[in-house]
Amino acid sequence: MYRMDMDFAPLTDSTLHTATTRLSQVGLRPTRQRLSLAALLVGDGRNRHVTAEALFDAARAGGDPVSLATVYNTLRAFCDAGLLNEVTVDATRSYFDTRTDDHPHFFWEDKQELTDAPSDELEIARLPDAPEGAQIARVDVVIRLRRS
Ligand SMILES: [Zn+2]
Repeated sequence: MYRMDMDFAPLTDSTLHTATTRLSQVGLRPTRQRLSLAALLVGDGRNRHVTAEALFDAARAGGDPVSLATVYNTLRAFCDAGLLNEVTVDATRSYFDTRTDDHPHFFWEDKQELTDAPSDELEIARLPDAPEGAQIARVDVVIRLRRS
């Protein structure tokens, strides 16, 4: 589902320049495709939480004839390189977060929107032990909200 208010950075010399820098910082070769998607995502330095579909629509609207499969592959490469974090809200929905430190999220069920929640108000007192032969890689906190 494409959300009109899921905003992206504009494609300008400045956002493309920032994208080039960010790609080289994480060791990714700046292909034309990666550059234009990275410019939309991180070109203005603002944090955003986006779906692959919304990024696809924004890229197409900007004149980039990219395929949805390429958008998914590029997002996967960005996550693997540490440029983005994937936040899975349910089995059918992932958001890609340009803020990569550990932080909790609010998921607004009515608007299907993911926003940051204040980290300093979160306290995890105890986690279950990882099963034998496993270790906890990461804990994602998504607090689902419904308007009261
Ligand atoms: Zn976030």
